[in-house]
Amino acid sequence: MAEKTKTTELKEHIMMTEPKGVKALSKEEISKADEFCIGYKRFLDNSPIEREAVRYTVELAKKEGFVEYDSEAKYSAGDRVYYINRDKAVALAVIGKNGVKDGAKLAIAHIDSPRIDLKPNPLYEANNLALFKTHYYGGLKKYQWTTLPLSLHGSVVKLDGTRVDVNWGDAEDESCFCITDILPHLAQEQVKQPLAKAIAGEDLNVLVGSRPYDTEDEESDLVKLNVMHILNKKYGIIEGDFLSAELCLVPTFKSKDVGFDSSMIGGYGHDDKVCAYPAVMAAVNAKVPECTCITYLTDKEETGSDGNTGMQSDFLRYFIYDLAKQDGVEGYRALSKSTCLSADVNAAFDPTYASAYESKNSSYLNNGVVISKYTGHGGKYDTSEASAEFMGKVRTMLEKNDILWQVGELGKVDGGGGGTIAKYVANMNVDVVDLGVPVLSMHAPFEIVSKTDVYMAYRAFSAFFDTKF
Ligand code: MN
Ligand code: MN
Repeated sequence: MAEKTKTTELKEHIMMTEPKGVKALSKEEISKADEFCIGYKRFLDNSPIEREAVRYTVELAKKEGFVEYDSEAKYSAGDRVYYINRDKAVALAVIGKNGVKDGAKLAIAHIDSPRIDLKPNPLYEANNLALFKTHYYGGLKKYQWTTLPLSLHGSVVKLDGTRVDVNWGDAEDESCFCITDILPHLAQEQVKQPLAKAIAGEDLNVLVGSRPYDTEDEESDLVKLNVMHILNKKYGIIEGDFLSAELCLVPTFKSKDVGFDSSMIGGYGHDDKVCAYPAVMAAVNAKVPECTCITYLTDKEETGSDGNTGMQSDFLRYFIYDLAKQDGVEGYRALSKSTCLSADVNAAFDPTYASAYESKNSSYLNNGVVISKYTGHGGKYDTSEASAEFMGKVRTMLEKNDILWQVGELGKVDGGGGGTIAKYVANMNVDVVDLGVPVLSMHAPFEIVSKTDVYMAYRAFSAFFDTKF
């Protein structure tokens, strides 16, 4: 090998080098990533909606020694608790040696994903077909949700106050549902429309039946009656119960490896289960940390984090206040010393749509976890920006632990944008930065991530829980 020139040495010393990506990882590290993703795929397949993600997470945590949080109980270092918020968000905490006196370490991901929700009065019959009216949830490209097999998930509360959980359409031998689209032959008007207008929100009607109720009686709406009758037999619900229900349609398919090399995973809801699972596993595998570590899985991120299960709710704040009280410190003091990784996905650079990205500040599949100093849109609106100091600490932590990482800004400066929960955490007087997994086809029914990036997210959250800032 030729000797390095002085200039090469200087360049290597003071200039950023091309990211090595997977080449920087040993064979062992790559197998660990593949192994880790087996558990991730199971989590993803069992958690299409937030209620199911909470259920699965609590089951997993219980197996690892977590017990339900009791605000009256006294906790000591190494204790592990879970704390459920209305069945749609959940915190896992591992109590540290110092409790929250020096602040808590927070990793916060969201477990809601874009999908199709039923309207409060959804079921109707038209031309001998039974259909559901829907209102889509989150930012989605509507055309992607037509002609897909969909399953129904959620809960219905009956007049007597009992709740039934609905899960229809995922099993091999079970029927599914579908939003229809017009055939190309008759779509001459539709295809002339801009994408946003080609399929309207009110067009996202779901086909749920086509046979009439078996009767000799001359009655109207027999197909609708038949559907309601089937639902009544299976779940004991009546049409009025739709009003006190949360029912969602999501793709029926399970996650699947992508590529000849099986290096990627395609699936529904990577945003943001792909950060939720690594954050959960980091809490589960935390030993006895210095500061109390909390992984919080929140709801309603896709619609702005509003409401009592969203990040703008006081649930997490009050939890930390409770813990602080135990430790004999004021809650606001504990919060002001807390640090947080806002664990959310970033848009990976897509060579097919290169013009939407700024290549020097985009994240790439297989280059590791993405840190985003800020999110928001043109002119840095609607974001909290991590300070140079906090970025410095996180960067040092990643480097020291040999974690593959990259910077990422969402697209071009004036090309659109989007937010995360980071700003709501920052508003609580907490230092926070976005750190997550790059995703291709974000918000599509089938999103794509790289296995090594998923594993690096786990390593990053684990290192964060272990590092004293
Ligand atoms: Mn997200
Ligand atoms: Mn999203």
